Amino acid sequence: MTQNTPIEKSQIVDLHCHSHYSDGSLSPEELLDWAKNLKIEILAISDHDTIEGVQSLRKMREELSLNVIPAVEISTKWQQLEIHIVGLNIDPNNEELIQFLETQSQLRSERANQLIEKIEHHLNVSETRLKLNQVVKGKIICRSHIAQLLVNEGLAVDSRRAFEKFLRKGKILEVKSFWPEMEQVINVIHKAGGVAVLAHPSRYKTGNSRLTKLIVSFKQAGGEGMELSYPGLQPHQQRRLIRLARENELLASQGSDFHHPYQKWANIHQVIPIPADIPRVWTDFSHRSLLSN
Ligand code: AMP
Ligand code: MN
Ligand code: MN
Ligand code: MN
Repeated sequence: MTQNTPIEKSQIVDLHCHSHYSDGSLSPEELLDWAKNLKIEILAISDHDTIEGVQSLRKMREELSLNVIPAVEISTKWQQLEIHIVGLNIDPNNEELIQFLETQSQLRSERANQLIEKIEHHLNVSETRLKLNQVVKGKIICRSHIAQLLVNEGLAVDSRRAFEKFLRKGKILEVKSFWPEMEQVINVIHKAGGVAVLAHPSRYKTGNSRLTKLIVSFKQAGGEGMELSYPGLQPHQQRRLIRLARENELLASQGSDFHHPYQKWANIHQVIPIPADIPRVWTDFSHRSLLSN
């Protein structure tokens, strides 16, 4: 792709993917090969609370052959709910963002320490720290790594059931997280030159009226876009989100939330399309793709 080519609406776009720098299983390079095979033309690598994957690609950007958007999925809090905000087209050299993500990483490590203690105490697992280090590939420790550890120990048959049995609200490994407020996170994304996108809005434990309030708050705090197309989103849910996007003048984003090649559903070709008249968040991203920097 030539530099500074404007991005067309019809291009195949996936703006939400994880590498092994957070809880995905592919390296950023493997993720790019995967994306190329799927004919994806614009890909955002949006790891949980880290841009290490994006930074690793910057070192070899002359070898890239698809448009990679630097991104990050940040864990935040809004009214005691855990909300994920994707920062798209961020500057990976922005010092404030780098410092902020360092703090997020520390919060995750402290939470992991609490979980290790609980696992050893309640579930009688030995050498938990060592076992956790074996499943974590970068600096970021996610609950999905803990779930994998529990699966490896034979305590659950798969990750989903490990969450159900141990990690979700009310279960033995529930830990309170201390994520920063949504508004603060949106500000950090803006300071790093990025745009803030509300990730997978239908997945939060809200009823319809609380979801509406969340989206209004997100817009008031300066948020620019929201995901309107992603795996698991049902047509009736998408219709509601489209209405809310229009009412709040939010741009559309879309992403597979890819984590692993064996997760067959995490494929951007299988999601429901976004109506053509809704403005896309990615239309003017070419200025900060890794190819054009
Ligand atoms: P964390 O951000 O560390 O709390 O981890 C959340 C991650 O765990 C999400 O990004 C998902 O990848 C994964 N996850 C959350 N809930 C479930 C679930 N019920 N089953 C499987 N994976 C889950
Ligand atoms: Mn994840
Ligand atoms: Mn998420
Ligand atoms: Mn995600």
